[in-house]
Amino acid sequence: MRSITELQVSTTCDGCPDSCCSQPYDWVYLTAEELDALSRASGLPANAFSSERVNAATAFQFKVLDLPCRFFDQSTGRCGVYASRPLVCRLFPLYVDPMTGDGMLLAAQCGDRLDVLEEPAPNISWSLEQYAQPIRDWVRTLWREAKAGVQRGDGT
Ligand code: SF4
Ligand code: SF4
Repeated sequence: MRSITELQVSTTCDGCPDSCCSQPYDWVYLTAEELDALSRASGLPANAFSSERVNAATAFQFKVLDLPCRFFDQSTGRCGVYASRPLVCRLFPLYVDPMTGDGMLLAAQCGDRLDVLEEPAPNISWSLEQYAQPIRDWVRTLWREAKAGVQRGDGT
């Protein structure tokens, strides 16, 4: 059996009728750096497109993108801040849960727009292995910032 770290997939997102960007559910977690990058790219203040959410188990305060995402252009089906989109968006349909650290492939949302590639094909695919270190760094940063928000008690 192949492990998820060996998986190579590609998605065909143009014209996707079930674009993950327009879905109202789940949390798109953001680090402070990602929040700043989106603010710079859009010219909008952070509170125009993001919120603070508290994890019930830990009371940690996480920054999350408001959904449906305001940067998704319904007319073109494209991301309006593509070059500055956060890691969660870059990885989807791989989803990494910061609560558990588990990675899961949400293949059902993409349906037949997702192809599992037999041969590694740089430039048109990604693998968890390629992202492993950035993901670990991202989860650590999220938790550090979420915990610091609790200690300050101001959620910033
Ligand atoms: S990642 Fe999947 S659900 Fe999202 S736009 Fe692409 S094909 Fe659609
Ligand atoms: S930032 Fe871009 S890729 Fe991410 S949810 Fe919004 S529109 Fe989609």
